[in-house]
Amino acid sequence: MALNPVNPDTTVDIDAIRQIVSQNFPESLDQLIALARIPSVAWESFDASKVQESAEAVAALAKSVGFDDVRIATAPTDEGKQGYPAVLARKPAAEGKPTILLYAHHDVQPPGDRALWDSEPFEPELRGDRLFGRGAADDKAGVIAHISAVRALEVAMPGHGLGISLFIEGEEEAGSPSFRNFLEENRADLAADVIVVADSANWAVGTPALTTSLRGMVAGEFEIRVLEHAVHSGMFGGPVLDAPLLAARLVASLHDDDGNVAIKGLLSKEEADVDYDDAQFRSDSSVVSGYQLAGTGKLTDRLWNKPAISLIGLDMVSVAESANALIPSIRGKLSMRLAPGQDAAAAGAALKKHIESLDLRGAHVSFKLTEEGSSYFQDAENDAAARLMNDCLRDAWGTEPVNTGIGGSIPFIADLKELYPSAHILITGVEDPDSRAHSANESLHVPEFEKAIVAESLLLARLANNGLGE
Ligand SMILES: [Zn+2]
Repeated sequence: MALNPVNPDTTVDIDAIRQIVSQNFPESLDQLIALARIPSVAWESFDASKVQESAEAVAALAKSVGFDDVRIATAPTDEGKQGYPAVLARKPAAEGKPTILLYAHHDVQPPGDRALWDSEPFEPELRGDRLFGRGAADDKAGVIAHISAVRALEVAMPGHGLGISLFIEGEEEAGSPSFRNFLEENRADLAADVIVVADSANWAVGTPALTTSLRGMVAGEFEIRVLEHAVHSGMFGGPVLDAPLLAARLVASLHDDDGNVAIKGLLSKEEADVDYDDAQFRSDSSVVSGYQLAGTGKLTDRLWNKPAISLIGLDMVSVAESANALIPSIRGKLSMRLAPGQDAAAAGAALKKHIESLDLRGAHVSFKLTEEGSSYFQDAENDAAARLMNDCLRDAWGTEPVNTGIGGSIPFIADLKELYPSAHILITGVEDPDSRAHSANESLHVPEFEKAIVAESLLLARLANNGLGE
């Protein structure tokens, strides 16, 4: 059935968009299933030809929705190795029209232990409302959402003139080692007014979300030396507190009695609109029964808007090799998550100062920072693109969207921000809390997926119509 194209001079007809997306949805789902059959894991121990195969499948999908300029491209990593193939497709903007960059990734996490899956990871299976399979949500659904939204725009508004660049990365789950170089090599082709990163999650089935904050992080290693060499604990124990005992004091000093991070000078905010249900959090995190959760304030603020610090590694004598000796030195690694807006270098300096000014009986203590990642924060009320996206989410779901954070980081968001400082970034997603990305039985909620496509189609149509209205 041919639909009446939306008249580009009038406001976008939501019902027409909804109908176009709905008519094409069986094809969208078939395309997703075909793509999710390809085990495109960009890890060295997996078959790299599968990542190439999925890049070729994505390139064919891009051509099928009217992209003429479609390339499969790689860039070198900083170590000089060639990265995994990304797909880059472009429709140049007509005079006076904005350009939007649509990002997702076509590589997936390894399947993990097959025994934990209820169906084959790379044989997508529909059960009830959900499509199960590795990549069914993260992030092949993001890829197909983009393809489907572009197709809906082409049907609804032929000759729309909107500039569209499609950038489908092939190594996100491997830490995007060539992402930065790829951006720099293709800087002009990827330039856009609005960037949609479709790799996040909605708040709940029935409640769409725009991800507006990501925590930053710093990590570093401490070393404590007490003795030049190990000595007998019977002969020397007593006057000497050895390295592990002093490390325990160091680690204990990182939090106050409530379990809040005790490093002075760190940013900490309380601004989450929604809260995580306590019982749900306990179940999702798998804390043992009776465990008292640390910190104060909403759980969502503790996860999104406050710092957190963990001891993630410790080098000392193992239990199997333990002897009755005082241990001369110890090394540990700390990882700290930072509130959105916190300067990472300043936070690293605060942690270093905290550790080096501790009273550890004159032991030799050093601390060196090893990693640093920027946080991200978007003021959704004062960002024209975020307001437009929230309107599209509201119209697609018929529910008020929420602005959410992510406790972890998406490091390449900082690269996008740095290379395209004037671009508006929209972090959207097709996952829901039960999607179990990266775990066994990963799945996509199929009716929510259709709504996500409607929202993105509306975004494209409205941008084509009125730009950002600025
Ligand atoms: Zn992802």
